[in-house]
Amino acid sequence: MIILGFESSCDETGVAVVDTARGLLAHALHTQIAMHQEYGGVVPELASRDHVRRVLPLTRKTLADAGLTVADVDAVAYTAGPGLAGALLVGASVAQAFAWARDLPAIAIHHLEGHLLSPLLADPRPEFPFVALLVSGGHTQLMRVDGVGRYALLGETLDDAAGEAFDKSAKLLGLGYPGGPALAAMAEHGDASRFELPRPMLHSGDLDFSFSGLKTAVLTRVRAAEKDGGTLDDQARADLAAATQAAIVDVLAAKAEKALKQTGLKRLVVAGGVGANKRLRARLAQSLPRLKARAYFPPLELCTDNGAMIAFAASERVKAGLVTLRRDEHAFTVRPRWDLADISA
Ligand code: ATP
Ligand code: MG
Ligand code: FE
Repeated sequence: MIILGFESSCDETGVAVVDTARGLLAHALHTQIAMHQEYGGVVPELASRDHVRRVLPLTRKTLADAGLTVADVDAVAYTAGPGLAGALLVGASVAQAFAWARDLPAIAIHHLEGHLLSPLLADPRPEFPFVALLVSGGHTQLMRVDGVGRYALLGETLDDAAGEAFDKSAKLLGLGYPGGPALAAMAEHGDASRFELPRPMLHSGDLDFSFSGLKTAVLTRVRAAEKDGGTLDDQARADLAAATQAAIVDVLAAKAEKALKQTGLKRLVVAGGVGANKRLRARLAQSLPRLKARAYFPPLELCTDNGAMIAFAASERVKAGLVTLRRDEHAFTVRPRWDLADISA
């Protein structure tokens, strides 16, 4: 079965085709980062309008790259939430219109399930069960995953997400939006030991996180430098970037290790944009063998939002028998707020 999938929950328009038998055939992506940069963050109305502009050309390109036509598509999938309402509506309407026009079923996908299953697109593919560390711009969660649709929350952030901590600290350091990758690049030239930053909830005894205090600690260091009219020089900014990254990576890795010990599982899957972070990857590659465990990551370009993970999640749900493929049901809704625990298995 050929599934055409759409992602439009935030500032990336993604389209992909997955064959339930052969896997990912093609995907295309347009990121709106450059467009939102001058505003320092995502402007929802601009995001929706840009999704409208991009989605059909990307669909044509994806099908052409896969050597397919619209007639080859057997089902359509789209991100139904969580995300920006207007942005979600673009992908949902296009998917439902496509399905209605060609008399196909349409499958609503939870964006976080897309992130969560994306490491299964890597080679080697992790077997179930595993612990998943989901670290994106809006979420930080540890989950026990026993199979497709079988997700148990082990812990999560009580305030900011890890990606948000990267982005907000980056902003304080005068880096653009989204600051995570920029902060990581800057940290490469820094000395993490020059600034001592807190590791919030490192010893809390549970698997929850808190990152809002870290941003405040970074702000305090910036303010201290600005006192008496000074500024952080380039080296100090790089050192502070390195210290921030080290603090975030330390907490994420320590809690992921704790989750492995607690569950007795030997596989850790890291998903979401922060999963692209080199230091996090290196740290886990180094520490997990001591637990006789191993980390799995999505292909780098599939860490942040993309259509491939949505078409793929739909494919996995179809194969697991979790989807009722109805051709006569095209009334739809999007869910800007939607807890992963609420998806029907
Ligand atoms: P959600 O999926 O929770 O709705 P999102 O879709 O915005 O949020 P993603 O696209 O998965 O999140 O990831 C984006 C986040 O990843 C941003 O916060 C970005 O700064 C961060 N990020 C991307 N690359 C890196 C990197 N190399 N190091 C650190 N952070 C990174
Ligand atoms: Mg994004
Ligand atoms: Fe995302």
